Amino acid sequence: MANTTQTTLDHNLELFPILSSFPAQERLTGIARLAAASSPAGEGHRMELRSLQVRSVLNRSVSRRRLSFAWSINPYRGCEFACRYCYARYTHEFMELQPEEFERKIFAKQNAAWLLEQELKQVRAGEEIALGTATDPYQPAERRARVTESLLEVLARQRGLRIGLVTKSTLIERDISLLQRVAERNTLVLHLTITTPNTQLARLLEPRAPRPDLRLRTVARLRQAGLRAGILCSPVLPGITDTGKALDGMAKRAKDAGASFFCAQPLFLQPCSKQIYLTFIREHFPALEPMYRQRFAAEAFVSKAYRSRIEALVKAVCAKYSLERRDGDALLTRQVGDGRQEPRDWPGSCSGRLPFSGSETVEA
Ligand code: SF4
Repeated sequence: MANTTQTTLDHNLELFPILSSFPAQERLTGIARLAAASSPAGEGHRMELRSLQVRSVLNRSVSRRRLSFAWSINPYRGCEFACRYCYARYTHEFMELQPEEFERKIFAKQNAAWLLEQELKQVRAGEEIALGTATDPYQPAERRARVTESLLEVLARQRGLRIGLVTKSTLIERDISLLQRVAERNTLVLHLTITTPNTQLARLLEPRAPRPDLRLRTVARLRQAGLRAGILCSPVLPGITDTGKALDGMAKRAKDAGASFFCAQPLFLQPCSKQIYLTFIREHFPALEPMYRQRFAAEAFVSKAYRSRIEALVKAVCAKYSLERRDGDALLTRQVGDGRQEPRDWPGSCSGRLPFSGSETVEA
């Protein structure tokens, strides 16, 4: 089975002889050694796709904080969308690669479907699985590598799982019928991240992600297909997208697209993403640089007061447009009148406030 999956992956990837700048293998251990030993699997605009042998694909969330999900699955390491605020760059540091290489060296996980099939036995009833917490499962590499599709095929054969998927990509439409099969026997919640409806701003912030209007159209199509799909307006960027007017505009578009829910969380700046984001601010919003330096001088998170202000704004726009609201720590289940639990949405985001940090997850 493992060999079959690998053959399929290799078949889907065009092999290129690429010279790479990895550290010397001899001194590396763990995932850094596996990354250095990975085989070239494709190349795009300054992007290198590699095939990575991993030992596990279902990662346990081990945060001491209350999390919205117990498990995460990331079909890739790295993400070509290259969002300037992306916190997931820390996953490349585990491989002794630079944060900037996160968007240029993409690793497709070998044997992911086979591994998932084995590892799902660990998931207990009621535990939630988040797909796409540190990469975009529908980034361009997925067109050829099809790792996400292979994972969904495994999930479609399960029953009673609780799955959340987050993406910025219109490519998710390719898998609508597969997603419908997953949703027939499991709880499935789809999250499309849209930070701004402004195409120019989105191009600066998320250089290689699909246009916001196309993502909104994707939400509408997922809803028309009977899938539960909503909008994550995350991260909310101080001084750029954090006004009541901006959130109102996004909520209105969510309503027009028929979104199942709407949520937004403030920017979270990990050390690995801080430098890249602040360089972006200096280049495009120089007047805001002092505010950012002060706000994130000691903390990766915004202040409690700022968070409360954003929560109040989101609450107001959800009420105005009759949109279901998702809290940052909401669970997939909620109590209903007679004491039973019923499904809720998974609120995670690959681009909003991270409900866990790199040190709190186990990545294979
Ligand atoms: S925020 Fe998400 S979509 Fe953007 S680069 Fe990071 S993983 Fe990819």
